[in-house]
Amino acid sequence: MKKKISKGLAELLEKRKCFKLVCGAGNEDAAEVEKLVYLYASAGANYFDLSAKEEVVLAAGRGLERAGKTHKEKFLNVSVGIKGDPHVSKAVIGSACICCGKCLPACQVQHAILRGKPYKVQSKRCIGCGACAKVCPEKAITIVSAPKPLSKVLPPLLRLGLDSFELHAVTQDEESAFSQWKELESDYGGMLSLCIDRSRLGDKQLLARINRFMEKRAPGSTIIQADGAPMSGCDDFASTTLQALATAQIVYRSALPVYLMLSGGTNSKTAKLAKFFGIRFHGVALGSYARKIVSRYIDREDFLTNKAVFSKARTIAEKLVNSSLRYMG
Ligand code: SF4
Ligand code: SF4
Repeated sequence: MKKKISKGLAELLEKRKCFKLVCGAGNEDAAEVEKLVYLYASAGANYFDLSAKEEVVLAAGRGLERAGKTHKEKFLNVSVGIKGDPHVSKAVIGSACICCGKCLPACQVQHAILRGKPYKVQSKRCIGCGACAKVCPEKAITIVSAPKPLSKVLPPLLRLGLDSFELHAVTQDEESAFSQWKELESDYGGMLSLCIDRSRLGDKQLLARINRFMEKRAPGSTIIQADGAPMSGCDDFASTTLQALATAQIVYRSALPVYLMLSGGTNSKTAKLAKFFGIRFHGVALGSYARKIVSRYIDREDFLTNKAVFSKARTIAEKLVNSSLRYMG
């Protein structure tokens, strides 16, 4: 039987009190995901975005258990993307590498690049942002996008009772994105999320695409994740979050019967700025920035056992979650 819309998730969005932690569509490090979900669920986050891997979803479930939370109060989403989307891409370092080390400080993900001869990318940690390739003097780094077909990815995930699936449709190849959207619609009856931004589309084309994807969707069954500058470099500047607001404003003004989530370049300023600009939204999704501010604790081997370490990390996470929730509603 096809999954129905998760009542709890719909209610949370209706209340406009949704804080989504993006663990990283490309983050396949199950151990890290377990810690992130444990930490942010304890800190008040109520929705979690995961990569399309069974082991990662199971790890997130363990994180919820550690936090003493259940699927009835905290919700899980899995992200899928189409070829070319950075969320499903990985960096690969080739033999031209001269071991200069310039890619290391450019990478915001701890231990994604490993020293060696040549340097190597730890694929499960790489989120495909491409920052390393931009600084490599030898052009030794290639960003490879090879998402698996949904027909292979979905079956094991559908058994896990997820609350939503999200399609990253940031592409000029609208037909590929549309056919994946239709495939998701036909296989999954729960909440769908469409993650989309303005980087490759004009404002009119963006709205036209959203309208097309929404054609057969019932009211209240879709989240539009207004993406700004994904993989923004984790800055906490107001300017970093402006693109997310610009996309959100287009969706908000459309008055479509969707839930509006802000994402991409989101940080501690996002919710406050959205409120300032009069954009009514249902939730905010924070990724790189939320992960960065706790990474020095998460990376510790004793994170799960040292209460003082966990408590310090939770204080930081709580501050971010609460400062975002304060401006919702
Ligand atoms: S920047 Fe390029 S050449 Fe330098 S270590 Fe990284 S991959 Fe190798
Ligand atoms: S900079 Fe981005 S693309 Fe390069 S290894 Fe780090 S996460 Fe992957």
